[in-house]
Amino acid sequence: MKSAKNGDIVIIGGGIGGLTMALSLHQRGIPCRVFEAASEFRPLGVGINMMPHAIRVLSTLGLEENLNRYGVEAKEFAYFNRHGQEIFTEPCGRFAGYEYPHFSIHRGDLHQVLYEAVVERLGVGAVSLGHRCAGVEQDADGVTVRFEDAPEQHGRIALAFDGFHSALRHQFYPDEAPPQFGGINMWRGVTRRKPFLTGASVTRVGTVQVGKMVIYAIRQFDDGTQLINWNTEQPRDDHKLNDWATPGRIEDFIEPFAGWKFDWLDIPQLIADAEFILEYPMVDRDPVGRWVFDRVALMGDAAHPMYPRGGNGGAQAILDAECLSGLLTEHEDPVAALRMFEAERLEVVNRIVLTNRDQPPDYIIETVDNLTGGAPFERIEDVIDPAELAAISDRYKDTARYSKEAACGR
Ligand SMILES: Cc1cc2nc3c(=O)[nH]c(=O)nc-3n(C[C@H](O)[C@H](O)[C@H](O)COP(=O)(O)OP(=O)(O)OC[C@H]3O[C@@H](n4cnc5c(N)ncnc54)[C@H](O)[C@@H]3O)c2cc1C
Repeated sequence: MKSAKNGDIVIIGGGIGGLTMALSLHQRGIPCRVFEAASEFRPLGVGINMMPHAIRVLSTLGLEENLNRYGVEAKEFAYFNRHGQEIFTEPCGRFAGYEYPHFSIHRGDLHQVLYEAVVERLGVGAVSLGHRCAGVEQDADGVTVRFEDAPEQHGRIALAFDGFHSALRHQFYPDEAPPQFGGINMWRGVTRRKPFLTGASVTRVGTVQVGKMVIYAIRQFDDGTQLINWNTEQPRDDHKLNDWATPGRIEDFIEPFAGWKFDWLDIPQLIADAEFILEYPMVDRDPVGRWVFDRVALMGDAAHPMYPRGGNGGAQAILDAECLSGLLTEHEDPVAALRMFEAERLEVVNRIVLTNRDQPPDYIIETVDNLTGGAPFERIEDVIDPAELAAISDRYKDTARYSKEAACGR
């Protein structure tokens, strides 16, 4: 096995952010090595939305064609109340005039596209599996990264892309409170079936108070069927540990959705036909005021774990990678580049963490639900001006930096 040399950048964690970082540095001719805790990569998780701001970065890395091959190019965001009535629909990605598409994709497929590109471009030895980071030490010249059951590694700087349960975040914030549970539990699954609505609609239905669902296609098969990703949210007093692989049971969450047989989708059937179901609590952590500690930076979920709403957990990790690799190219001193990275990203992303708690995009449905008292409506125009609903959506895009201008990197 190769060791990281003193001049290398050490990336801890080979998830979405860590692998994007490796590709981005490699594209700029900056040597790096990735150390990942898992002993093998498995297609874990379910669906993830990659919107134009993230796809711009991945396209620059030459990955758009592969993502298109695995995922589904989304056409619209569609919002429905608990009665299945359409509240608001707007085009997304290229269908909304963005320069880059919006892909809905299995997280395992996205990870695979990134991993294959890293192996092809940096070589198979660039990612060391079975390396669980235990801590880092640093001096004026560089970093020493320690692992459980593996030799230590040296480098110029260390980038902690080690996810929600980051070992390095714990090193720098040893007294941090446990993850913040928002009183909401999620059950997620995938079901193969014929397409619904446009076949490329990212659909949100209901409100979390009574039961909410997010439903979208993530794979297209030759026989015309699709793999549909669905996610339910419900209020709960307690929760299990946040592990993306915890299995879920239909009987624990089906009740509010049992009557949701709409003319555009039979939701109880969708759930009953699931290939598997996973359970995950809605957790994040309070934003912190510092991600960079001289030669070590917390990045991605290690820096800003957020509710998985609005497709921004993965996207912001990707944007972190792009931002820092650009700064490392411009500045010879990596410590200065890390400081600038923090100055550029910390406030922006911390705001997304807080917005995802109480005003995610599905705030549109909550607004209408409050106005109608949860009852069906005759005409949405009699309830609220659709321009006000569009304004809610636009506000989230501004905060999450995927308005048309921001998504293009302007
Ligand atoms: C298994 C899994 C499944 C997921 N499924 C979904 C999903 O279905 N939908 C969704 O929206 N989001 C999902 N997420 C979250 C989403 O991928 C992240 O929010 C987003 O990609 C942020 O990227 P990241 O690189 O910061 O973290 P991640 O993509 O989570 O990557 C972190 C990586 O660090 C590794 N790691 C952890 N600890 C250590 C350590 N001590 N040393 C070395 N490596 C370490 C992990 O194994 C992982 O590969 C999932 C995350 C994981 C880990």
